[in-house]
Amino acid sequence: MKNYKISIIRGDGIGPEVISATERIIEAVEEKFSLKFEKILVEAGLEAYKKYGTNLPDFSLEKIKHSDCLLKGPTTSLEGEGTELGVPVKIRKYFDLYANLRPLKNFPRINSIFKGVDLLIVRENTEGMYSGLEYKISEGTNIGIRVATKRGAERIINVAFKLARERKERVTLGHKSNVLKMTDGLYKDVFEKVSKNYPDVEAKEEHIDALAMKLVMRPQDYDVIVLENLYGDIISDLAAGLVGGLGMAPSANIGENFAMFEPIHGSAPDIAGKNIANPIASILSFSMCLDWLGEKNASHVVEDAVINSLKRGDKLTLDLGGSSTTHELAESIANEILSISV
Ligand code: NAD
Repeated sequence: MKNYKISIIRGDGIGPEVISATERIIEAVEEKFSLKFEKILVEAGLEAYKKYGTNLPDFSLEKIKHSDCLLKGPTTSLEGEGTELGVPVKIRKYFDLYANLRPLKNFPRINSIFKGVDLLIVRENTEGMYSGLEYKISEGTNIGIRVATKRGAERIINVAFKLARERKERVTLGHKSNVLKMTDGLYKDVFEKVSKNYPDVEAKEEHIDALAMKLVMRPQDYDVIVLENLYGDIISDLAAGLVGGLGMAPSANIGENFAMFEPIHGSAPDIAGKNIANPIASILSFSMCLDWLGEKNASHVVEDAVINSLKRGDKLTLDLGGSSTTHELAESIANEILSISV
């Protein structure tokens, strides 16, 4: 029996619903494999802010530090001048989780404009426009500082090339170095240098605006796309829209020694508390967590169970064209996990 300590932030809005659905999947994985997950519940997000005056109290951070990895539900951000950074941004910075991996592909029965889409967005997670460096310099004039470092660019671009070797061996860098000559120019220079170490991988660069247009016309042409922080955030939501919406979009935030797994979507206040949110993004994030822990077989079984459940198609949530609840869909995936022969 292998034991893991998994810290869990249930989050705000639909967070507690999709995470409790994912906890059902954790139970099914425990039952199927010789694995045990000790769950450490961590308070963070808007509810924590209301109780403690901060969205990520020190005692929550301590709990996360003493776990092997973190499963995070979406948290509602505080908005407006002077408010704290969001929980995921704080955690990414604190643990230096520099690689945000966002796989976006077609799944059976999911309505989408294109077939044959299989993208991996590799988003730099610690610098760029999300560095938290925003200032008021005079009344009516605010500035934000965009950080680009050689170290940051090198490590994320290397991740992209390494992952491309396990896929279709194609990497595209999206940038705007014709305008942002210092910051995106640095990413472009590093990309050109690093690509020489991977002669087996096709390397392409495109301006981010042209890339956005091409993605909505021929997304099948792309494999791994490496992007700085803000571009990665926007382009991955766009790509989620190409494959059936945010309910199908998982992510991993990976550093050298720790990792956080969370759906790409937010707390979706418009559908919170109704038990209708799609839990698949969160369940697939747990599958990415299993993969990172080295539990490759269990990770594949969770993804296959999602595919089998979608193929059966009798338990789909509203966004997928059905009328089942969050927990009915999770139960269907859990049953598939238990029935797959390994
Ligand atoms: P959102 O992702 O919460 O919602 C966008 C749209 O997608 C909504 O119509 C919503 O109903 C739908 N949607 C999202 N997830 C879904 C699911 N699982 N199933 C079905 N439909 C789903 O984005 P938003 O409205 O811009 O943000 C709401 C809050 O979430 C904000 O406070 C934002 O800052 C926060 N947020 C948090 C994270 C995070 O914690 N990582 C990420 C993005 C946004």
